[in-house]
Amino acid sequence: MNTPSTEGKRNWLNDSIMNLLVDYYTEVQFRPYGSAATRENVLPVLRELDLGYICIYAKGHSGYTSWPSSLNTRHTILAQDMPKFFREVTREAGTLLVLYYSGLLDGIAGVRHPDWRMQHPDGSPKEFFSDFKVFISYGNCPLSGYFDEWVAVQLRELIESYDPDGIWVDGDWPGPCYCPRCRERFRNESGWTGPWDEIRTRPEFTSAYQKTWNRIEHEWRMRFRDFIKSLKPDCLYSAGNVSPRREFVGPFDWRSGDFFSPGFFNLHDAARMMRWYGTLGVPYDAYVCDTSFTHARKHVASRSKTLDRMLQEAATVAATGGAVGYWTYPTADGALVPSRMRKATAVRRFLADREDVFLHSESLRWTAILASDPATPTFGGPGVEGAHKALAALHRSPDVIDETGVSDDMPWDLLVLPEQAFVDAATVRQLARFVERGGKLLSSGASINSPELRDLLGVRLVHTAAVSDGHVILKTHDEPTGIDSPWDRLELDVCRGRRRPRRSHPSSSRESPALPGTSPPAVELYPLYLSWDQFNPECHNLPNNWPMHGQLDEQRPQPAGFPAAVGRRLGTGIAIHVCTDVFGCYRMLGDPQMLRWLREIIDFMQPEPLFRTDAPSWVDVSLRRRGGSLLVHFVNQNPGRDISRLTTDDTWVDEIPAIGPITSWIRLPRRPAAVTWQPGGAPADAEWNDGVLRVVLPRLEIHMCGVVEGADYCHGPFAGQRP
Ligand SMILES: [Zn+2]
Repeated sequence: MNTPSTEGKRNWLNDSIMNLLVDYYTEVQFRPYGSAATRENVLPVLRELDLGYICIYAKGHSGYTSWPSSLNTRHTILAQDMPKFFREVTREAGTLLVLYYSGLLDGIAGVRHPDWRMQHPDGSPKEFFSDFKVFISYGNCPLSGYFDEWVAVQLRELIESYDPDGIWVDGDWPGPCYCPRCRERFRNESGWTGPWDEIRTRPEFTSAYQKTWNRIEHEWRMRFRDFIKSLKPDCLYSAGNVSPRREFVGPFDWRSGDFFSPGFFNLHDAARMMRWYGTLGVPYDAYVCDTSFTHARKHVASRSKTLDRMLQEAATVAATGGAVGYWTYPTADGALVPSRMRKATAVRRFLADREDVFLHSESLRWTAILASDPATPTFGGPGVEGAHKALAALHRSPDVIDETGVSDDMPWDLLVLPEQAFVDAATVRQLARFVERGGKLLSSGASINSPELRDLLGVRLVHTAAVSDGHVILKTHDEPTGIDSPWDRLELDVCRGRRRPRRSHPSSSRESPALPGTSPPAVELYPLYLSWDQFNPECHNLPNNWPMHGQLDEQRPQPAGFPAAVGRRLGTGIAIHVCTDVFGCYRMLGDPQMLRWLREIIDFMQPEPLFRTDAPSWVDVSLRRRGGSLLVHFVNQNPGRDISRLTTDDTWVDEIPAIGPITSWIRLPRRPAAVTWQPGGAPADAEWNDGVLRVVLPRLEIHMCGVVEGADYCHGPFAGQRP
């Protein structure tokens, strides 16, 4: 089976549910660094928390180090050799030690070696954190002498002196670099010629350059990892806050991130990243921060987040298969903060109570979001992010994959191709076979750029962005859905009817036709309607939020003359295309009208879904499996407060209200052996009748998991073919 598998690299990270990141910047030079990190302060915490690993700073983005490096980069008032101290105390506690090392970002290296600095397209140096007054940082070019003359020297010192169990690289994200070295590499790979100032204005420049940059970054990480392994083979490597595609997964012993938590970032973004990491075959974790600070609100003092919120974040990560990195800030002298460590202990207990359902499970692989555009700089983009947000709200437990996850025997029942500007022809041919054998394919917006996808759908693209605002009349609700975004004009290719499609473009391959000769034509599922008075030129004088602007005339809807969504049945499956960037819009706006329309479309595609529930949209459901058991995780992501707090600094999440009962229905061909709730193991109120298990969760605080033992579930395109 060629589908993404978790049978990849295994290491001790698979077996730990909680780690600790001590975020102790080396950047501030006017205070002693590490004077209060003592055995008395740290050792009891390590013993209490029973961590997979603790991660401490070796080098920050400024380039200052917490050890006396031979490059003379030590913190100006370094009170003690911190890796040495933590190596001793972790040995005593039996905890593994991971060192934080700023990768491509290094201020001191950039100051001493201006030639190493990354450059913007106009040739100016890439400087970071200039809004902080206490330090500067530069991106350093991976093709410069930075690795050999700087990074390799420091890595050797760290590994030979302190014997770490892992290196976690942050600050690997400042690219792309447009210095002469990197430009030359781009010209060689792309074949592009001409003056640089002309090249960089070409429309396709950004996406073309990104592909070269992805390879440069990948080589940097391979070099970094190989050097570590040459010194200590079992020292693990990860780079966090970067999210390269599956083709670049090679160097990673685990996938990791910390860009989710410090402010009150969206929980579903953390879930999305975990659901992407979960398809890559390596362990993965995410750091959840116990401190409220945001880069965007420098005038607001940092304070500790509530325990409820920490549990909510931890549950979101763990229920999607990730290990929880508890991310804390010490006091400025390096002492772990007692109240925060008590909170960490509470999180640890919460996770320990649930280890059986959090560890060693894998996604059930029911729904997937496909990111097929290799120019995606950081995995995702607005379409993928919005598709995850919508599918999670619809309780579809989506995985996120790139095109390497698309194969003839992939298990998903529903695949979403959200506004992907590029999808290769071979992938579309596999998508066609997926649909023919019963799969459901939902695409949107720019995905229609693909001529092969147009063939699959049986449509022609007549005019991109034909109107800039449109409405849809729903079949199940009396309120229309309005999407104020460009809509493409497609025409149904009716003449293709019941014969092999004509090929109007040379890129289609004749050896693997996208469609059989007997497919019915596409149909218009929803006509598009215009806003009333949309083309009155005086409308330009109204702001977009004018309350009587951009409305559908509900009594006499004015057709746009082309579809809002088209569909086509192929074999035993169905493909539907929405003619605008519905997912990107939903990501930005979270408009319930859009969600309602998407729900209607997906319910139509999956009239008998594997799973449904009456839980609210903000209860996140993860369908996973472990051994012969089906795991149904419910995470209460309700913020518990009025979140309509525009332009305020009140971003807190405090008490999270318990909810329930929640009823769910799971299609199981046979009666399961047992259904229980974890934690606690209480038998569930469950009833199996005629292929459907009905199970009631009486009360959901922050997290519960239904464990369905002996669950002989079947789903996916093959399910209907089974007896
Ligand atoms: Zn460069």
